[in-house]
Amino acid sequence: MVTGASSGIGEAAARLLAAEGAAIVLMARRADRLRELARNIEDKGGRAAVSVGDVRSAADVERAVSTAVDTFGSLDGAFNNAGWGTIGPPLHEMDDADYDRMMDVNVRGVWNCLRKQIPVMLAQGSGGSIVNTSSTAGLFATGASAPYVAAKHAVAGLTKAAAAQYGGQGIRVNALMVGSTRTELMDAAIQSNPQVEEHSVARAIQRRLADPQEVAQAVVWLCSDRSSFVTGATVPVDGGCS
Ligand code: NDP
Repeated sequence: MVTGASSGIGEAAARLLAAEGAAIVLMARRADRLRELARNIEDKGGRAAVSVGDVRSAADVERAVSTAVDTFGSLDGAFNNAGWGTIGPPLHEMDDADYDRMMDVNVRGVWNCLRKQIPVMLAQGSGGSIVNTSSTAGLFATGASAPYVAAKHAVAGLTKAAAAQYGGQGIRVNALMVGSTRTELMDAAIQSNPQVEEHSVARAIQRRLADPQEVAQAVVWLCSDRSSFVTGATVPVDGGCS
């Protein structure tokens, strides 16, 4: 199950996971994008199902989890990636509505996913791997807005707590600490303030932004048994940020 599969990192991860043989439930709000992606995956011989929904809604998330079980027989892995954030302005100039939206999508979204996915994995009894998308903003205060920094720290916290609670039952939970990546979210940030690109490039010791494909590679690794002794980790894919 991949949330935020309609663009950017989620779309790249869904394509790569499908190419590696995983059957994927694609979740996001833009139905047309998801249907096109599912067709694309199937044209290449992969398996994909669409579940249109909003991660802020527990009922929508539950429907996506049920789609995985009903269509493919089980839920073995999840990439809880849907998110939204802004770079500025300073917090005293921000609206409560922006705070609410960033907390809701990034934190409640992951919370809803964990609450619906873990019982299914426990009932299956064969473990599972969950990857949540945090950010370098989940490790330190980047140029991102304060609610986004808070939200991505919370995603890291939820990840560690869930990993500790379910490690004994074979469910691994990790977070990706993603650095600046060329996606619609980043394009919007650069459009609102062109200096964002320059600052992002300067922060990474590789002196560039990531391609979503590079993040997707880490998702595949964390979802697969190749990372079988990795859990509760915050894995940086950030070109060396500080
Ligand atoms: P995109 O804007 O390309 O993708 C965001 C995805 O999240 C879209 O598929 C969008 O789909 C989905 N989404 C947003 N809100 C909701 C919602 N309420 N319910 C369901 N789906 C939702 O950006 P990215 O690929 O960059 O973002 C993916 C993740 O990576 C986010 O969690 C982001 O915070 C994180 N990240 C990104 C970085 C970057 O530099 N790009 C850096 C660090 C972290 P739709 O609109 O169709 O619902």
